[in-house]
Amino acid sequence: MDNQKNLEELKSLLGEVSDLNNANAVLGWDQATYMPSGGAPARGRQMATLATVAQEKLINPKIGHLLDDLQKYEESQPFDSDDASYIRVARRDYERALKIPPAFLGELNEHGANSYQAWTEARPANDFSKVRPNLEKTLDLSRQLADFFPGYEHIADPLIDFADYGMKAASIRTLFADLRANLVPIVKAITSQAPADDSCLRKHYPEAQQAEFGADVVRQYGYDFNRGRIDRTPHPFMTSFSIGDVRITTRVKEDFLGELLFSNLHEAGHAMYEQGNDSAYEGGPLAGGTSAGVHESQSRLWENVVGRSRGFWEHFLPKLQAKFPEQLKGVSLDTFHAAINKVEKSLIRTDADEVTYNLHVMVRLDFELQLLEGSLSIRDLPEAWHERYEKDLGVTAPSDSDGVLQDVHWYGGIIGGSFQGYTLGNIMSALFYNEALKAHPEIPNEMKQGRFDILHNWLKENIYRPARKYTAPELVRRVTGNDLTIEPYIQYLKTKYGELYSL
Ligand code: ZN
Repeated sequence: MDNQKNLEELKSLLGEVSDLNNANAVLGWDQATYMPSGGAPARGRQMATLATVAQEKLINPKIGHLLDDLQKYEESQPFDSDDASYIRVARRDYERALKIPPAFLGELNEHGANSYQAWTEARPANDFSKVRPNLEKTLDLSRQLADFFPGYEHIADPLIDFADYGMKAASIRTLFADLRANLVPIVKAITSQAPADDSCLRKHYPEAQQAEFGADVVRQYGYDFNRGRIDRTPHPFMTSFSIGDVRITTRVKEDFLGELLFSNLHEAGHAMYEQGNDSAYEGGPLAGGTSAGVHESQSRLWENVVGRSRGFWEHFLPKLQAKFPEQLKGVSLDTFHAAINKVEKSLIRTDADEVTYNLHVMVRLDFELQLLEGSLSIRDLPEAWHERYEKDLGVTAPSDSDGVLQDVHWYGGIIGGSFQGYTLGNIMSALFYNEALKAHPEIPNEMKQGRFDILHNWLKENIYRPARKYTAPELVRRVTGNDLTIEPYIQYLKTKYGELYSL
């Protein structure tokens, strides 16, 4: 009896925290979509206030007492029961929050909002000096944040842990080194050939028709528009205010068909994860995504493994051609499939193909570690960026806009733990898809008919519904029976690109 009463009280207190955080997310979404620039200073302050109040409510000693009182009950329940999981995850969040002073979190949020605003002006102006003081402060705040968690091996570890619980700088370095050793020969074999012809994507594609087609495809995937919407932002993202309101944003280029479409497929993958959470988790710590890596595995699965597959386009190319009869006249499935999977050494991470993408991530991870260690300064970052791109990707950025200013992450958040999730997600996308195929070998045939129910339902059951109940390492073990491995991902790349480039 007492246990249920305590649990109800805990849920009510944490529900308020969740309400405040979700209200803050609405302000963030508005800032990124429709807010006039004059709103920026007040918005930064408002978001900081909400974050501070949420943090104060989360570190309420009452929550600590309830968690203590509930410990025996938790231990008496099965590990994967909703009650035991709720208490376990709430305790993890609570203990982490206790270490961060609310005033610090407020400062971090306000700084993030100001810094984001400065970045939106600095990037188009190609003026790194406009954001340099902001970024220096971000680095300082990121270090302070890590230092609230003493006893780390590497200063980035606590920050990586926020995003990808259970990972450390050292374990990621090992995994990435292994991946790099496998990727570099594939990149070399492909880029020594003539590049694929993607001119069919680079014609004039009017915005309205692109938006219609992009929305149709994600609707067919299973993205629920009654619980979501699509808006435009310079940097596409997903955000959720409840399981009943999970939004995505996208961007359009009228001279490139790939931009809006694949942004949509990517963000819809993120959104379907959160729309698919068990509805019983609404407003509590079990809702959301379990880690940056698992979240990204869902976006990359729908964007790449599905959305850039030949089977998918067997169904959708005729539909796209009906939308753009002039532009895509006479374009064969082979030509189109090769165009959307063109591999090349390029400047922009978000535009990079599947094969070279992880090389972009590795550059950023290394910079985060070096900046936090103090072996690289913000002042030297733009130059270091150019040098590293020449060395790793063989390309020279004509500007900082396409260099150090290209990603929003450091300008709206922290330095540390911001990028490894992308590559972990790529690795896991192949891992999870493999398991879905083992359970349902008919998935590729469904896909050729433009249907995705079997795959979507498998993901819902195994990944979306449990939400934060299992940590990423637990989830991977439950779903695959093993720890994280890069083998299925390497195999996926070798098979797909082996066929495309006759390797
Ligand atoms: Zn993503």
